[in-house]
Amino acid sequence: MDTDRGIVFLAMSLEEKAAAVALVFEKLDRQIASFQASTTLHCQWGCGKCCFKPDIEATVLEFLPFAVHLYRQQAAEHWLERIQHHPTSICLILNPTQSGAGLCAEYVHRGLICRLFGYSARTNKYAKKELVTCQIIKTEQAAAYHNAMLQIEGGLDVPVMNQYYMQLHAIDFELTQHFYPINEAIKRAIELVLQYYAYRN
Ligand code: SF4
Repeated sequence: MDTDRGIVFLAMSLEEKAAAVALVFEKLDRQIASFQASTTLHCQWGCGKCCFKPDIEATVLEFLPFAVHLYRQQAAEHWLERIQHHPTSICLILNPTQSGAGLCAEYVHRGLICRLFGYSARTNKYAKKELVTCQIIKTEQAAAYHNAMLQIEGGLDVPVMNQYYMQLHAIDFELTQHFYPINEAIKRAIELVLQYYAYRN
């Protein structure tokens, strides 16, 4: 159930679910852009340090848009092969030698956890929003970081992590119930898409 628009996600096809996830991502990206504009918090150019974390976890659904994209590019089997031969738990999409704003080779298709980290809040046991961001931002943008926390206390609109996971739950509960190591989540999304199209064709 999409609470904002009262839409019920019954009997959606895999493509429709991927499109629904992409809509949630679009809304989140707009909310993050507005939060960044209000707080001036930003990632260091070319950083990508958060992507080197070896234990990033994700759901299958948040990588469904990426898996459908790969299928349409006829690259799904190739990526499955890469994941099966990828030696580490560090995200396979990370490209350490990439030049530009960050090191994500598929930035447009990155997962929900990737979008939320740095510019979202979790709610603590007192229902207070706590900003979840990286050590680099906390130290190198200390004044803006502390100001952002005050702005949030003052009611500044900030994406709340569990609210976005709830929106994905509403699209497909099964595919959001479990968190897997990020490459495993990507692998399962690709396998699901290949099965779906194999069945359809
Ligand atoms: S998908 Fe992209 S943003 Fe997410 S962890 Fe991998 S490299 Fe980083």
